[in-house]
Amino acid sequence: MKPLVFDIGEIPHDGLEIEGRTDGDFFELPPDDDIRAAGPVDYHLQLDRGEDGLILAHGAVSAPFVLRCVRCLEEFPLHCRLDPYFAEFETEPGQTAIDVGGRIREDLLFEVPSYPHCDEGDDADRACPMGAAFETPSAEAAGGGSDAWGALDQLNLGAKKGSND
Ligand SMILES: [Zn+2]
Repeated sequence: MKPLVFDIGEIPHDGLEIEGRTDGDFFELPPDDDIRAAGPVDYHLQLDRGEDGLILAHGAVSAPFVLRCVRCLEEFPLHCRLDPYFAEFETEPGQTAIDVGGRIREDLLFEVPSYPHCDEGDDADRACPMGAAFETPSAEAAGGGSDAWGALDQLNLGAKKGSND
């Protein structure tokens, strides 16, 4: 049985409030994936019936992950929160259930950065040890620039001298 699959018939007309925490391996990510789920999903949602069989879910969902920084390759924690969270479920006539858990899984994984940097994780004070190498312009480029200006000054001096003669 998948987690958070709801029988449409059991959603009252004035809505259903659901709150809790998933158990087991909710995300079922492959072991070699760069994203690791680090705990359960916390959810607090209101399910409402809309028009034309539409079911609306709104509230908040969150889950902790461990990601690998693309710069320094170190792992770091990132708690992914969708608050406010909103999802719509279109239902066909005869459909009996909606997979709220499947949608939450997709939406949380979509929110996790594909090129994570460790200074964007839960530790606000963290500075990526490889960060500086990517951001500082090289000393060589700066030196070349000043040499070019020097050469231009020489040309201008030369031109002035020539005109005075
Ligand atoms: Zn890093």
